Amino acid sequence: MINIMYRLLFNQVKKIIPRISETELIALRSGGVDIDRDIFCGKVNINKIIEDTPNKISKNEQLFINSTDILLDHIGQQQMYPNKNIYNTMDYIGKNGYLSMIIDKKYNGNKISIMTQSKIISKICSYNPSLGVVVMVPNSLGPAELLQHYGTEEQKNNYLPRLATGELIPCFGLTGPNNGSDAVGQIDTGIVKKIDGKIKIIIKLNKRYITLAPISNLIGIGFNLQDPDKLLNKEGITVALVEKNHPGLEQLTYHNPNNAGFPNGTVKGEITIDLENIIGGEANAGNGWKMLMECLAVGRGVSLPASSNGASKVATYGIGKYIKHRKQFKIPIGEMEAVKEKYISMFINTWIINSSVHYTNHILDKNKTPSVITAIMKQQTTERSRVILNHAMDIYAGSGICTGDNNFLTAFYNSSPVGITVEGSNTLTRGLIIFGQGLNKSHPHIYNLFNSIMTNNITDFKVNINMMVKDSIQNYLQSYKFKNKNVIKQLELLTMKFSSLSNFVAILGGKIKSKQMISGNMADILSNIYLAYSLIWYHNNYTSKDLDKIRDYCIEYLLQDSYVKYNLIVDNYDNLMIRNILKPTKYIISSSNLSSINNLYNIVKDNKEIENILTTDIYYKNTVIEKLERLDNLEKNKDNNEDYSKLYNDIISVFEYKIN
Ligand SMILES: Cc1cc2nc3c(=O)[nH]c(=O)nc-3n(C[C@H](O)[C@H](O)[C@H](O)COP(=O)(O)OP(=O)(O)OC[C@H]3O[C@@H](n4cnc5c(N)ncnc54)[C@H](O)[C@@H]3O)c2cc1C
Repeated sequence: MINIMYRLLFNQVKKIIPRISETELIALRSGGVDIDRDIFCGKVNINKIIEDTPNKISKNEQLFINSTDILLDHIGQQQMYPNKNIYNTMDYIGKNGYLSMIIDKKYNGNKISIMTQSKIISKICSYNPSLGVVVMVPNSLGPAELLQHYGTEEQKNNYLPRLATGELIPCFGLTGPNNGSDAVGQIDTGIVKKIDGKIKIIIKLNKRYITLAPISNLIGIGFNLQDPDKLLNKEGITVALVEKNHPGLEQLTYHNPNNAGFPNGTVKGEITIDLENIIGGEANAGNGWKMLMECLAVGRGVSLPASSNGASKVATYGIGKYIKHRKQFKIPIGEMEAVKEKYISMFINTWIINSSVHYTNHILDKNKTPSVITAIMKQQTTERSRVILNHAMDIYAGSGICTGDNNFLTAFYNSSPVGITVEGSNTLTRGLIIFGQGLNKSHPHIYNLFNSIMTNNITDFKVNINMMVKDSIQNYLQSYKFKNKNVIKQLELLTMKFSSLSNFVAILGGKIKSKQMISGNMADILSNIYLAYSLIWYHNNYTSKDLDKIRDYCIEYLLQDSYVKYNLIVDNYDNLMIRNILKPTKYIISSSNLSSINNLYNIVKDNKEIENILTTDIYYKNTVIEKLERLDNLEKNKDNNEDYSKLYNDIISVFEYKIN
């Protein structure tokens, strides 16, 4: 009788599990898990977080971080492209080790820890975002990363040392007019053909949006390999490398991505390549998607979050100083609540980005590859950074809109949508990937359950479904607990409630793929929980006890957002019976205390420890921010009224272009 019940359940679950394509399956299987597994289990061990201390940055790596100032002084804030100096710049940054931060020393690279890489990228992006992109791309998913993991020894020896010095400038092209978010759906095809007795691949290329393509001389390409004559007996997504001037290859046009000033363009033409051009050779024909997904698991957790951190810190630090001095109605605009409200939102989001960047770097430096966490980081940091820059622009007002010397925001504002769009567009990452992959990857039972169904293994199914039901009941009962005043206890309760709610949402099965508003809000709760734990870790390792109240404000901010979303999901659950089961677990939401914004502003304003944190890993020499710092000092000395007024007037002036 019991066996019949299990069989019925097995068939029922089989019906609701989504149909998963090979490409989706590979994406789901790539990468590993970390604290995301604990969150899905409903219990994160705070002691474990507290005991998990970061490695010290080595002396050499610290020297490298410091020497980035020399690089930035040398290159300045000029846009990288179009710019006739671009090849000199590439040569300079290559020779100084900035293009090989992921390449092993064995191949003349300058491989450094993730934490150091992140700090360097953050610093460069805080001063010259277009240079940031140029440095970031060779150190992210592309030829160097793929070669190191999958290249033949011959390919590694041939390309990596030249990539390390900047002699070879890489780019990697997947995207075309018909394959954007669906990166390999209708990608260019490559047909296997025998030509003069040798097996070759003929590829028709039509790539767009490819970063560094206009200046690249080592082009990575992704294509769909087709083998109609069964010469290789392998098909599917394949990645290969071709050098500039390869017969038929066209690098003729470039795009202008929002005047952000970095090289981006097209790769087109019809080319014929050998099997040796495939990264890893013939053995890797058809393995491209797996190769890309495995590398992406780490890549998107580092560079884009680091650049968001740099931009956010510089905007928050600069605007924090500006609102202390800029006066309207005879008072500093920072004293006006409407301005304060925006500034505090900037501050909190910057603090969250900075803490989570540090925590994630630490996880990745332990050689973990948590794909759900890196997707969270990509989406959350780029999105929060955009919120910060929008507020910054509103506060800086006319000075932020008109370009010129005193405008320190335009470059970040223009670059912000790039991070939002690339490496898995945020709308798709939030609506589909974070929670969907979380259920399949981070959830303790669902993947095993799925596997038991795929392999028709009823014994495994029984074990997994029993565990899942047991956990679900336990977590559901726990989620009835009342809110405690302590924010960390509240976070623990939210973790439990999220875990319970995700089991109910999982019942939607394949429908989750189309219920992207539910999935997106679940993703936000999951992300908020991760970010909140990262704040605990960060404060434990990097701040004095005095700043614990900042940690608590930030966690509270994440909790409030999560409560609203938790209730939204419960109220919109399709099935009435389940909705009624969930309703008693809803949050009773009390109004935020508006005076806390005034309190937080008073804590943040002029706090030296906070200033030190905001100014670490950013660079702003000879910018208006340095002038604002001087203004701070002049203000303290009342004898310098005249100097103060002179500098104030200089700072609030806006660049004037001559009319010809
Ligand atoms: C400046 C820049 C640099 C780039 N650099 C590179 C590079 O070096 N190499 C490279 O190969 N590519 C690069 N890209 C391409 C980038 O990866 C794509 O732009 C991105 O994948 C989105 O594709 P799309 O612009 O065609 O948007 P579309 O795919 O048309 O998407 C439009 C909107 O629909 C949403 N959407 C699509 N599908 C779904 C779904 N299933 N569920 C929910 N929402 C969905 C998207 O999130 C987006 O909001 C770059 C792009 C830009 C703009």
